[in-house]
Amino acid sequence: MKIICIGRNYLQHIKELNHTIPKEPVFFFKCDTALLENNNPFYYPDYSNDVQYECELVVKIDKVGKTIPQRLAKNYYSSIALGLDMTLRDIQEKEIKESLPWSLSKAFDYSAPISEFINIKELGKDIDNINFHLLKNNTIVQKTNTSDMIFSVDYLISYISKYITLKTGDLIFTGTPSGVGKIKEGDLLEGFLEEKKILHCQIK
Ligand code: MG
Repeated sequence: MKIICIGRNYLQHIKELNHTIPKEPVFFFKCDTALLENNNPFYYPDYSNDVQYECELVVKIDKVGKTIPQRLAKNYYSSIALGLDMTLRDIQEKEIKESLPWSLSKAFDYSAPISEFINIKELGKDIDNINFHLLKNNTIVQKTNTSDMIFSVDYLISYISKYITLKTGDLIFTGTPSGVGKIKEGDLLEGFLEEKKILHCQIK
């Protein structure tokens, strides 16, 4: 399986990092070894001094698809989760400055803590109208609704599958809203889908 991550999909986040608004989705990859499941703790790596959380809605692909039209995209997923796109911001800034790929800053081991998956039908919400928020040490640091995405989930699936075949089990991290920030040992990150807590990540 592959993990496809969308960059720059919320306007306020683009502004906070001084990036430009993309005309088409920007995406990059994490490796399967990036996954950190079952609410296991995240161990602060010794190769960065600026690890940051980015809470994102994650969509799981249910079946193989290539060049999926946007109007049929909903047939290719049925469950969502919350994930943290952990980012080595100091290394990423260097990569951006030197026009290098983001592999090191984004795809390192355990850089993708992920919650259980929730069936969208059971949630009873439209994919383009889902609220989620992240607490850091009991304070809300990120809060959004998927209607704030620049590129919708269905558009992303259509766009990505034009170039890359999507396979069963692939995950799409759909981009982070504003409020990203540093973590340190001892922090607790908690992700809520609507009002239900589904992600718990202790920083060790
Ligand atoms: Mg991200």
